[in-house]
Amino acid sequence: MVNYKMELEPLQQWIQSPHRPVIISGPCSAESEDQLLRTCQALKAQGIDVLRAGIWKPRTRPNSFEGYGEKALPWLKAVRETLQLPFAVEVANPQHIELALKYGVDILWLGARTTVNPFNVQEIADALRGVDVPVMIKNPINPDLALWIGAIERIYNAGIRKMAVIHRGFSSFQASKYRNVPAWQIPIELKTYLPNMPIICDPSHIAGKREYLQEIAQKALDLNYDGLMIESHIDPSVALSDAEQQVSPAQLQELLANLKIRIVRNQSDDPELINYLDDLRDKIDSVDRELIEILKNRMVLVEKACEYKRANNITIFQVDRWNEIFRTRSEWARKMHLNQDFVTEIYKLIHVESIRRQTEVITRQELAEVNEQSH
Ligand code: PEP
Ligand code: MN
Repeated sequence: MVNYKMELEPLQQWIQSPHRPVIISGPCSAESEDQLLRTCQALKAQGIDVLRAGIWKPRTRPNSFEGYGEKALPWLKAVRETLQLPFAVEVANPQHIELALKYGVDILWLGARTTVNPFNVQEIADALRGVDVPVMIKNPINPDLALWIGAIERIYNAGIRKMAVIHRGFSSFQASKYRNVPAWQIPIELKTYLPNMPIICDPSHIAGKREYLQEIAQKALDLNYDGLMIESHIDPSVALSDAEQQVSPAQLQELLANLKIRIVRNQSDDPELINYLDDLRDKIDSVDRELIEILKNRMVLVEKACEYKRANNITIFQVDRWNEIFRTRSEWARKMHLNQDFVTEIYKLIHVESIRRQTEVITRQELAEVNEQSH
């Protein structure tokens, strides 16, 4: 994928906050006007930038709390006006959008279960055409980068320029520590494809349990994310949804205070540091050039061996030889303190490419022989 620059309005501009990371917080669900107001008042006192609350909750099983729907929107409108803070809400269809906008919701977001469905996303995009509202797009529940990018493109093509993505982790059948596996490489790859797309981490839905929020939020910050969306509830123990992952406003304050802003600036302006970094980058460039040259040399040797094997009627692809390669390389990696799984993965790729090149050699030789015979 090539990277391309969408024409986007900067996040700090449309959220109207100079903070980095931007903090979005509020209950998983709006449960009553009192719950919403008390939670959000405490959040406002902590300098939170944007409030959130679920109005329509996409629940995995029926008979769980599905949100109060339109009934909750006046609560939200009142809280928003009292506290003078922008409110973000999840929308899953054109009717939700119409209602959210009617009650003055400032920012819309697409949930993970919506992003997976291109029909759904297109319907939402069509409803947003000509509307000037910020839209945040959560990753799809399955780890499919193209699907995520597709949803972003549909919303962008509808004319939305105030956009951000939210990384909330991916469903996995395998048991894991977190409710959703973060698969950090996916949002990072998204960033290389869409470099100016603001990216917000939702540690709550990755974690599933409040005890893991801190480490996930810290990781997001270390990866230079633009913001955090963390669920909070005035009394998480009685929350109607996602009780285990919500924190009280006081717990949120502690979590934020414990975050280490290790990356303050993207680029240093100290000339000595710049020189040192430039020097290291030059060295990395030259090591990479050598790495490519070495790979090329390896392929040339593989082709020579292939020609020799064919000329002497020796089986070309020998499983034992490859098993031996995997075993020894992994052992060499261990001795050099390199991750053995990493080296094994590299050798799997090398193996696939070697087979491809050897097949090419054989085809070429066979063609040459056919041509010779026909002369
Ligand atoms: C939510 O933010 O409350 C929510 C339902 O999230 P997700 O779409 O990530 O599951
Ligand atoms: Mn939730």
